[in-house]
Amino acid sequence: EMRMGRYEDLSVEELESLRKELKQSYREYQNMDLNLDMSRGKPSLDQLDLSNGMMDALNSEADMYSSDGFDVRNYGVLGGIAEAKELLSDMMENNPDNIIIFGNSSLNVMYDSISRSYSHGVMGNTPWCKLDKIKWLCPVPGYDRHFAITEYFGIEMINVPMTEKGPDMDIVEELVASDESIKGIWCVPKYSNPQGYSYSDETVRRFARLKPAAKDFRIYWDNAYGMHHLYDHDQDYLIEILAECKRAGNPDLVYKFASTSKISFPGSGIASMATSLNNLEDIKKQMQYQTIGHDKVNQLRHVRFFEDIHGMVKHMMKHADIIRPKFEMVESVFEKNLNGLDIGSWTNPKGGYFISFETLPGCAKEVVDKCKKAGVKLTSAGATFPYGKDPEDSNIRIAPTYPPLEDLRIATELFCLCVKLISVEKLLK
Ligand code: PLP
Repeated sequence: EMRMGRYEDLSVEELESLRKELKQSYREYQNMDLNLDMSRGKPSLDQLDLSNGMMDALNSEADMYSSDGFDVRNYGVLGGIAEAKELLSDMMENNPDNIIIFGNSSLNVMYDSISRSYSHGVMGNTPWCKLDKIKWLCPVPGYDRHFAITEYFGIEMINVPMTEKGPDMDIVEELVASDESIKGIWCVPKYSNPQGYSYSDETVRRFARLKPAAKDFRIYWDNAYGMHHLYDHDQDYLIEILAECKRAGNPDLVYKFASTSKISFPGSGIASMATSLNNLEDIKKQMQYQTIGHDKVNQLRHVRFFEDIHGMVKHMMKHADIIRPKFEMVESVFEKNLNGLDIGSWTNPKGGYFISFETLPGCAKEVVDKCKKAGVKLTSAGATFPYGKDPEDSNIRIAPTYPPLEDLRIATELFCLCVKLISVEKLLK
């Protein structure tokens, strides 16, 4: 098809002939019987293989004792074995004393934290189940599974716009200070899902200095992508939030979460939480009824495999070597097909698992549908917003990590074609 400038500048005749061409190309894709999936942020098979050595690191010959003398096969050690706390605290940039090690999923820990606040309250405050209304701030676009948890608990979600520097802090500050029913905010501070943005120093400082009306307000700081850089030398660094809260005289304001899901295995990594000693004590009170201790064999296996934080950093560069070409390929296909047409924009993250795409208003759902009908599955449009409702119907989350590179190229080419076709149809209406 011919190369052109901004679609908006085209005449009706030009748009119509363009539509014809695009439809023809679309039919060719349909005839290819594609079956490709760009919907979830999952590591690819070769990424998973990077961690297979973990199975040899703790085999039937291995010493099953932790450094502090516990048999990891047996009951006990509620907060995690010492060497796992050391490794995970280095990963989280916190002190081992401020860490609890949980099971395999950080999302599980976030769910439990909200559940505990519902049934028993936060540090002696009224349990949320006894209050009329609970609200939550949701930077958008954001992570669908966060929004699903707060929706499940019947919490009213309030959209807060994301910027390249993090959530709009003027709005966050005003809302939390004026409304006691707002009890939390979802944050993905580094390489955010889906945009890949990292919070600026000013944003982190303002978070640490929030003055919430609710005593039991907590920042849910989900540092899921803390180590997930795409580049060796061009990486984002954030101010550490626990330390900053302490400096600001707000030591109990934040729960920080992370896991090794996308470092070792999403199916059996280790999750952990870092927070103040007061919060830890409050959480352990509930935890002692929930479990006698999480999977310590897996904790020891992780430490024996990675050895220390340097081992983990090196390991993350092997992941980066696999997924960097995928991110760069998607971005270059976008560039080649869409640059200058003014029908879409996209982010160019330096880490994390996603690229965020903005169509013209009112086009995202149709683009996703169109891709699906040609055999390419994307995250459903709207998923990046609370209640699945994108008010502009323009955001689409691209997950480039799972498919092999060649599949991904075809899927991205088709995606661009669908963006063009739906945009042309929109402009003709
Ligand atoms: N948090 C964010 C922002 C994510 O993107 C994901 C997975 O995509 C998770 C948490 C899931 O974490 P986990 O595997 O530790 O439950």
